[in-house]
Amino acid sequence: MILTDPSSAERVRVGKVLCIGRNYAEHAAEMNASVPKQPIIFLKPSTAIIRMPDSIRLPSMTSDVHHEVELVAMIGRSGRDIPLNRSLEYVTAYAIGLDMTARDLQSEAKRKGKPWSVAKGFDTFAPLGELVPAAEIDDPQHLKLTLNVNGITRQHGSTRDMIFSVAHLISYCSRIFTLEHGDLLYTGTPEGVGPVVKGDWLEATCDPLPPLTVTVV
Ligand code: MG
Repeated sequence: MILTDPSSAERVRVGKVLCIGRNYAEHAAEMNASVPKQPIIFLKPSTAIIRMPDSIRLPSMTSDVHHEVELVAMIGRSGRDIPLNRSLEYVTAYAIGLDMTARDLQSEAKRKGKPWSVAKGFDTFAPLGELVPAAEIDDPQHLKLTLNVNGITRQHGSTRDMIFSVAHLISYCSRIFTLEHGDLLYTGTPEGVGPVVKGDWLEATCDPLPPLTVTVV
């Protein structure tokens, strides 16, 4: 997957797609899970990314695919062991994204102590909206996120309720992985996750980012 970095107009190949689990307390509660003391990190393959006007395809291996609306940060340059007070300098763009999740497969994986890669990694499971230069976003911790399905609001939250801020996540992740230009960070979802079915029309908003619209087929 090649994306254009809107800050530099450079074409960049997506590297890692880092995702954060359970980063909002109300979502942890609806999953009957504890609030984590450290970020819960998993990865998706870049082949899961789709852009408008592509559609989410429901895989035959699952019968319970959920929407998770999330703020996404694109990394703009290489870094490791990035100090907290410098970490937002490594974000080149933001977008709204969906972390589609095969909840039945994820629940089984959790029960059996298996990884989430299958539940999270199917083709089309990482819809990504239009990227906006980071300079246009005053404060990534003061953005409202909504997700409507067929015009009905299912998720509504604010990035100020993240347990670990974007800055904290970047600093923390960079102690494990060297971050590179083109890496994406899906920062977790607020409460209200739920199933989608064939024919659904999803609209994710996070003003001032352009909305993401995607259908389920
Ligand atoms: Mg998620």
